[in-house]
Amino acid sequence: MPQPPDWAAGAIIRAGRRMDAQGWVPATAGNISLRVAPGRIAITASGVHKGMLTHRDVMLVDAAGAAITPGLRPSAETGLHCQLYALLPETEAVLHGHSVAATVLSQVTDTIELEGYELLKAFGAPTHEVRLTVPVVANDQDIPRLAAAIAPALERGAPAYVIRGHGTYVWGRTMNEAMARLEALEFLLACTLERRRIA
Ligand SMILES: [Zn+2]
Repeated sequence: MPQPPDWAAGAIIRAGRRMDAQGWVPATAGNISLRVAPGRIAITASGVHKGMLTHRDVMLVDAAGAAITPGLRPSAETGLHCQLYALLPETEAVLHGHSVAATVLSQVTDTIELEGYELLKAFGAPTHEVRLTVPVVANDQDIPRLAAAIAPALERGAPAYVIRGHGTYVWGRTMNEAMARLEALEFLLACTLERRRIA
């Protein structure tokens, strides 16, 4: 079956609209995926606006990121989605956006420390009294090299990561969980940026 199932395309389209409504996917930025079966990932095609997706903009790739759906090209960053599905087997959905907060903060710090926030519970923290470290990795147009730079942080259990001057990657066991984590992370990044502004 070369086309993604309707349920997966629909979930990806809804996620794109939600991310667009928050201003996290300007121009054709960002990408969204869902694992639909072992070795089969539904993902947004290259060069489409995530707030205006149709079923024709969602394609299937294999576990290595090779296109299965004919006539569509996967985003260059598909390899980063495949890496998350391969390294973190519980992961079923991956979201990537380019928010102002992630773009700006990642240019002035090497790690983003989140502590004392109620919303940390979105990442499974039992209380607000935990520290969540979100790693920042240097941007790189060479995706295999970028994936290799990210791998150690994933192996240490990073809950999300930020690519410098570029954007966030967040994942979850369901699309709803991934979206809740993205919303929480973006809220916390915006808080961190505000605190730097008033400090
Ligand atoms: Zn990107």
